[in-house]
Amino acid sequence: MQKQFIYQGNGQVFLMVMNEIVKQGIEEIRRNLDLDIGFAEGKTVLVSGGAGFLGSWTCDVLVESKAKVICVDNLVSGRRENISHLIDKENFEFVQHDIANPIFFDEKIDFVMHLASRASPFEFKEYPIQILKANTLGIWVALGIAKKHGARFLYASTSEIYGNPSIIPTPETHAGNVNPIGPRSCYDEAKRCGESYVITYRIQHNLDTRIARIFNTYGTRMRADDIYGRVVPRFIEQALKEQPITVFGDGTQTRSFCYVTDQVEGLFRLASLEDAEGEVVNIGNEEEVRIIELAEMVKKLTNSSSEIVFSELPKDDPRRRKPDISKAKRILGWAPKVGLEEGLRKTIENLSLEKKALPKKHF
Ligand code: UDP
Repeated sequence: MQKQFIYQGNGQVFLMVMNEIVKQGIEEIRRNLDLDIGFAEGKTVLVSGGAGFLGSWTCDVLVESKAKVICVDNLVSGRRENISHLIDKENFEFVQHDIANPIFFDEKIDFVMHLASRASPFEFKEYPIQILKANTLGIWVALGIAKKHGARFLYASTSEIYGNPSIIPTPETHAGNVNPIGPRSCYDEAKRCGESYVITYRIQHNLDTRIARIFNTYGTRMRADDIYGRVVPRFIEQALKEQPITVFGDGTQTRSFCYVTDQVEGLFRLASLEDAEGEVVNIGNEEEVRIIELAEMVKKLTNSSSEIVFSELPKDDPRRRKPDISKAKRILGWAPKVGLEEGLRKTIENLSLEKKALPKKHF
């Protein structure tokens, strides 16, 4: 096992997902954040879902920026490996807890970032009630903490709140086209409810809030295994194993994929800028591709001989998804920098490294 994946602390040995690709990514985010992320240094930030994909990148940036980070995660889909390199740091605390249940903190919290939720469509089938709870009861608990401490609040919402959008590219003003009783409703309706919680707490309790509508994001630390796998890591995993690449439907449905470092930079800009108070902003990449094109790209970039196979399209799978990011450009001074091919190369490289290092159960 490669040394970079083993971490020894508190007398225990942990596996960890921290290597040069992640380190460079974190440095890149911090460099690109040429604005003052002054809310971080010396401030206490609670990150719910902090052991997950975006949550752990968020914790890394905050820890490097000298914030005191309280990472709350129940580890049902988040992974201890994502944060094990942080466990021994003085400015990092891990609390294993389901944010859908009340939790109280005595020390002053300056900022709450609510990122907790399962997000894979396969999980919508297996754990719909947990997903509903993370974005309704969970956000109620998280907002309660923010209210008690007078903390700033950032909510990780999603492009799913637009359902199958009738406007492409989709601006924040689109009210959405969502099926409240469909198989995705546990996620998209819960996220819509979450947004409603946020704006209501803002109005009624004067909280400083920000809502990020995150469009399909991929990259290092996104799980490839089992029901957690979203399309990018699934296709990479299938291609690396020379297994069939499973395109759902005829593959003409589209998504616009944002690389993780761009996404996290966008989140921090939204979190930091004073002018962004109260705003709801799409954060994603405008490069729209058909899923069949994605399968072909992954196959080419992995030099795989996997065949591409087609199966039934899941019900309510959105036809097209592409963000209008003019608001993010205008108010955050942000636009993504990493193109799909470059991001896929990095993700493939990292997944190959992890596969060599981590035990089989991870894949
Ligand atoms: N998809 C696919 N094959 C897979 C997994 C997903 O063709 O093995 C498709 C899925 O039907 C959707 C797109 O890829 O059209 C993106 O799926 P993902 O699970 O990443 O999340 P979504 O964007 O639907 O929330």
